[in-house]
Amino acid sequence: MYKERGVSASKSEDRKRINDVLDKQLERSSPSTSRPINGKHNKDRENSNIIKDPRSASVSKTSNISEESETDSEESDVSGSDGDDTSWISWFCNLRGNEFFCEVDDDYIQDDFNLCGLSSQVPYYDYALDLILDVESSHGDMFTEEQNELIESAAEMLYGMIHARYILTTKGMAAMLDKYKNYDFGRCPRVYCSGQPCLPVGQSDIPRSSTVKIYCPRCEDLYYPRSKYQGNIDGAYFGTTFPHLFLMTYGQLKPQKPSQGYVPRVFGFKINKP
Ligand SMILES: [Zn+2]
Repeated sequence: MYKERGVSASKSEDRKRINDVLDKQLERSSPSTSRPINGKHNKDRENSNIIKDPRSASVSKTSNISEESETDSEESDVSGSDGDDTSWISWFCNLRGNEFFCEVDDDYIQDDFNLCGLSSQVPYYDYALDLILDVESSHGDMFTEEQNELIESAAEMLYGMIHARYILTTKGMAAMLDKYKNYDFGRCPRVYCSGQPCLPVGQSDIPRSSTVKIYCPRCEDLYYPRSKYQGNIDGAYFGTTFPHLFLMTYGQLKPQKPSQGYVPRVFGFKINKP
């Protein structure tokens, strides 16, 4: 079901190849044992292949801008094609499926302290960071197309890892509050939660362990996001702490527990449990 998408097979195969290379890079750059087991890992890679596809149609936003004549027809999911003033961060956050991400302040990313430890987790770290911050790189011509795609993937991962930290800060939480009030994270599908807005959460803080879920503050349970694009985002880009710290910070937003529960009935009678 998730694979039925308007993307050519060759394109997703390209992605897979690139991700394989990226995986090798990662294994080389972080020899730690914090990698998930193989089966699970492969499954998630497949997932993230899919989520990257909407973007792979426009490999870089600069090329998108320079070819304005044809952007309208094919890139309806990218709203950042209207001028030079779109930063990589807003472009990224406006991609389909990336609605859960808030825009991280440049200032936050420029402070090395906040990025501590990430350079060993993300391949092509320096280039990825330059890309995120829209720093014109003098190495631009040095890379092959494949390398550029690797850097794009690395930038996405780096942004995600920075994002997970940022949303635990005062500013980041305020940004997420705006999104919460806008129902950007979706609503609880449980009938007796009456459309309670949800918050994104990861089941692990280690990248590539599991995809993002939504947490309902009312029934205190986890659900899959409604959109398959959102559902393929790595849960580590939000982390295990966020919704709970958020609700501690904005205590007034914590809803009452649901007073009603569903009772199954047969011909109107409650079912006796043996
Ligand atoms: Zn609920």
